[in-house]
Amino acid sequence: MSGEGTASDTADVVIVGTGHGGAQAAIALRQQGHEGRIVMVGRDSVPPYERPPLSKEYLAGDKPFERIMIRPEKFWADKGIELRLGSGVSAIDPQEHSVTLSDGSTLGYRKLIWAGGGDPRRLGIPGANLANIFYVRDKSDADAMMAALESGARRAVVIGGGYIGLEAAAVLRKLGCEVTLVEMLDRVLARVAGEELSRFYEDEHRRQGVEVLLSRGVSEILGTDGKVSGVRLDNDDVIDCDMVIVGIGIVPAVGPLIAAGAAGSNGVDVDVFCRTTLDDVYAIGDCAAHANPFADSAVIRLESVQNANDMANTAARAIMGDKQPYHALPWFWSNQYDLKLQTAGLNLGFDATVLRGDPETRKFTVVYMKEGRPIAFDCVGTMKDYVQGRKLLENGAERIDPAILADPEVALKDLL
Ligand code: FAD
Repeated sequence: MSGEGTASDTADVVIVGTGHGGAQAAIALRQQGHEGRIVMVGRDSVPPYERPPLSKEYLAGDKPFERIMIRPEKFWADKGIELRLGSGVSAIDPQEHSVTLSDGSTLGYRKLIWAGGGDPRRLGIPGANLANIFYVRDKSDADAMMAALESGARRAVVIGGGYIGLEAAAVLRKLGCEVTLVEMLDRVLARVAGEELSRFYEDEHRRQGVEVLLSRGVSEILGTDGKVSGVRLDNDDVIDCDMVIVGIGIVPAVGPLIAAGAAGSNGVDVDVFCRTTLDDVYAIGDCAAHANPFADSAVIRLESVQNANDMANTAARAIMGDKQPYHALPWFWSNQYDLKLQTAGLNLGFDATVLRGDPETRKFTVVYMKEGRPIAFDCVGTMKDYVQGRKLLENGAERIDPAILADPEVALKDLL
């Protein structure tokens, strides 16, 4: 017989990945009354923890590990959720309904939830294997960086001006390091934000003492005694440094799923219930390509805690027989220095922006418009706009006169 998890060791639900999505899937299953055996398999060697603090409070030393755990350690055993930590899934047999673990053992499943997230995109240039090059994805990455700082590293080059690179730069400045940030495109946050936000953060980082280099590539990492000693740019300039932080995106961690026949090109494809094309296999979080209702149904992957948690809830409900299509408003945040950015909605395909407030005051909102309707808000220090902007988007915002929207005295809730 196949299809029911026939391996001698079988669980009702096997969850691959113990990050945000995996942890929330297990929590949601129990909350919804699932009483079967749940096994979580994860490469991380510690119980589920939050990733955002790894480039923020944890890296800065402001929050210890206990405070970034998704649940206290004993929670998992209390709920009867088995954790197989430090263990990777290397293969899936969709006919047999089983997975192979890195130690060669097999584990059967009735339902499989794949929450593998992504692996950091690596540098492919000479010197990329030197010591003191850090990618910020797992706790162990942040720990290694903190150890380098403790042993005296003080001059950092950050490669990549996305959120992770910018947040790391902010923490390193706070810790007293000299920081140079190198971005290949002509502005930071170019993939995710409009020009107003990019220029604001560039100015802020420069004001805080970061040297921000735009439209610049890196051609080589230089080393002495196996350790980083500098970075050569594509114009041949060399920046001396003793550590390099790389934040140039992720590659969805879906190898075994695709090898097993699941459809997908950018990650793995899922439907509105987070089902892959393999029977009884769901995928959620960073690795799941889905048609997003807040992006005119464009097929995208979202890399956010919101998306991982909400997809986990969707998959758990579907497994429990309470199928509800994924329909959650995307939101995100980023902390840099004393600035809190909160974003709501997706700005994909925006054709205009409206600025509410003055960036000079360090409190303002960028509204992204498409065909006269707001589709997303980037709120810097404007919590009210964020909360009310979310409501506006959730209710399906109509066309709004940009002049009215630009007036910070007009509350967004009055435009509902
Ligand atoms: P992850 O949380 O990455 O979990 C995936 C897990 O699966 C990992 O533990 C991985 O080791 C494991 N895994 C992968 N393959 C296998 C395998 N074959 N076998 C076993 N285990 C496997 N989002 C926000 O909304 N706001 C923020 O401010 C923010 N800041 C961030 C800062 C940093 C430094 C990072 C790295 C991310 C940040 N994010 C932020 C993004 C957010 O953390 C991710 O979107 C979220 O963690 C995605 O959850 P996930 O479950 O899909 O993947």
